[in-house]
Amino acid sequence: MKASDRPAENFSDSTPGLDPGIAEAVVNASEIGDVVLDQDARVVLWNAWMARLSGVSVDAALGRTLSQIFPQLLDTRLLVNIDQALGKGMAGMLSPGLHRHPLPLYRSSAERIKGQRLHQMVTVKPVRVTDAPRHCLIQIQDVSASFVREGMLREQASSLNRLMAELGENELRLRTILENIQDGVIVVSPYGVVNSVNPGAEKLFRKGSDRLVGMELVQLIPDIILPSPFTEDEEAETSARPYQSAGESAVLRGGDIPCAISYVLNELWLGGQRMFLCTVEDISVRKQSEERIRRLAHYDALTDLPNRALFQDRLEHALAQTRRDGVLMGVMFLDLDRFKNINDVHGHHIGDLLLQAVSKRLRVCTREMDTVARLGGDEFAIIQSSLKSESGAAVLAEKIEKALSRPFMLDNIEIYTSPSIGITLYQGEAGKTPHEVLKEADVAMYQAKAGGRNTYRFFSARMHADTQHKRHVEKELRRALQQGELRLHYQPLIDLTCNRVTAVEALLRWEHPKRGLLPPSEFIEVAEESGLIVPMGLWVLREACRQNRAWQDAGVPELRVNVNLSAVQFRDPKLIPDICKVLKQTGLEARYLSLEITESLLMAQVEQTTEMLRELDQMGVELAIDDFGTGYSSLSYLKRFPVSKVKIDRSFVRDIHCDPEDAAIVRAVIGLGHSLGRKVVAEGVETEEQLGYLKEQGCDEVQGYFFSRPLAADDCEAFLRNRLQMV
Ligand code: C2E
Ligand code: MG
Ligand code: MG
Repeated sequence: MKASDRPAENFSDSTPGLDPGIAEAVVNASEIGDVVLDQDARVVLWNAWMARLSGVSVDAALGRTLSQIFPQLLDTRLLVNIDQALGKGMAGMLSPGLHRHPLPLYRSSAERIKGQRLHQMVTVKPVRVTDAPRHCLIQIQDVSASFVREGMLREQASSLNRLMAELGENELRLRTILENIQDGVIVVSPYGVVNSVNPGAEKLFRKGSDRLVGMELVQLIPDIILPSPFTEDEEAETSARPYQSAGESAVLRGGDIPCAISYVLNELWLGGQRMFLCTVEDISVRKQSEERIRRLAHYDALTDLPNRALFQDRLEHALAQTRRDGVLMGVMFLDLDRFKNINDVHGHHIGDLLLQAVSKRLRVCTREMDTVARLGGDEFAIIQSSLKSESGAAVLAEKIEKALSRPFMLDNIEIYTSPSIGITLYQGEAGKTPHEVLKEADVAMYQAKAGGRNTYRFFSARMHADTQHKRHVEKELRRALQQGELRLHYQPLIDLTCNRVTAVEALLRWEHPKRGLLPPSEFIEVAEESGLIVPMGLWVLREACRQNRAWQDAGVPELRVNVNLSAVQFRDPKLIPDICKVLKQTGLEARYLSLEITESLLMAQVEQTTEMLRELDQMGVELAIDDFGTGYSSLSYLKRFPVSKVKIDRSFVRDIHCDPEDAAIVRAVIGLGHSLGRKVVAEGVETEEQLGYLKEQGCDEVQGYFFSRPLAADDCEAFLRNRLQMV
């Protein structure tokens, strides 16, 4: 029997006015579960909802207690409440938490075992109908939907909480970053007024945020450009492309200390409001090191003059300008004479001081618009832009010569120097590169050096060819020295008092692989100018001493070997130690060595040379003045030097017979030489007449083709063995 077929006990009697059938239908149509228990807690009403959701039919339920219907599955709170309702008349709401399942009810009655437990709200209350014993009404509501909603709400609430927490953290993090960032960060209104700043900006501008906020950004960064505040029409268009600019600017730190900054200005939207974010970086240190690097790249560290790179650059500009306006310009190449010697004698420290002092004097001599540069070593170059005439260059050269001729006091040492200057002029001609122009000045400078130093020369095309030839010879000569192409020939000297060969002069030859045997006139000048004469001269000295000793060992009667020394060799502080070493190594006694030095050398470096000659004299080496008469020195001057012989130059001997003046000079030299206690030698004796005159005048020694040309060592040995007795 269904619940609908059998009216519940209570309906018929206790519901006056309402048809029991309607009352039952209402109960069974109810969307909540209704259960009524009698005094004994037995079910007297079990509506259709209950039957559907518990799977227990009305019949199965009626007359049984809940514990019987659902053994062990009941919530004890339910039982307690039923007891209370039936006994003491108290009612209660059992599942306020909405999530409890006091009764084993399921969402699906069809598959109730698998079905989802129903979230219920259970109300238990006593029902009292007049005079009838107390009943208990249990009402159950399906609150699953609310439960799901509640769950969703709870989830939303918790993720909201999480989000809030994260937002708070992010903001904190952002603030910490902004506060610790080294760069200045400035938030600026669309009208260019500072809104807020970070500590980086305060530090950079040396102003507190209270002073910075409210200032105009252009007051802080004068070069910055802000877009003008736009109208609403423009807004849509502009906001599609956020404004951004960046640059560098000079600002005043703390209002008065200049400082270089770089900035980036970005447009941004903060909570729907247009703002600008300006990040500022202090780049003063970077700028300073950039400047240092720039200076290092363009200026000479020692003298602070422009270096070669900057000079080339300036020269290029100057050339471009004269090409444009045809103005005359001059380029000077300047080299200090004997700078290497100063370095060797006084050390590099003094050398450096000298270069600095020379730089200063050069700057004083030149105009502001001219460029004075140090190209390296003791080489300087000057660009004279816009000259009025050629003589302007000569005037400057003379001014420089004069300025540098004054002694330099460096660390209490008095230093003398002089420049050799090459000048090239240029006026609008097209096609010359800075390199070529500088080369011309360099060539002219070499000519100035060859011309006796402390002088200047203007460049000419012939000079160029000459210099090129010399450079070529120099290159070949280096090879010759390495490959052993040098030879020595020997020319006998005859002592007229005993008519015997008492000496030979060693004369250098170059056995050129293509050009054959070359005399010194072909290469000695280049060797001297390039400094190659120093190693070559040492070779000559060693070879001559070795040969002389070898002849002695081979039984050839003892004789001196005369070796020619160049002035350049005399500037080499190693000269005397080298001579000692050679004598020691070859085993030749010093008295068998004679050194020939030119008159011009003696005149050029009096102090230094006298000292060295004295040392050589003390060693026992004989000293002779070569080519006497060509250097315009007076014989009386010879007193000062410890030389024992004077060699009259060939040019005077040649014309003894036809030129009475030459004959007179020869006679005078012999006479004066003797009166000063020096022996006199005549070279270039080719004829019997010449020999006769010399003998007549009391000349001590003779040398010349009349007796023998210079000979290779073997031929000379044969000559010495056969022709010892000459006349
Ligand atoms: P010098 O020292 O005056 O040498 C004498 C020169 O006169 C030699 O020329 C010699 O061959 C030449 N001569 C000798 N007798 C006669 C003669 O009767 N008639 C003519 N016309 N000439 C004669 P050479 O060998 O060509 O040397 C030329 C110069 O080269 C030398 O002049 C000397 O100053 C220099 N020289 C030669 N060898 C060396 C060397 O090893 N070192 C240095 N620094 N210079 C050297
Ligand atoms: Mg000589
Ligand atoms: Mg000579």
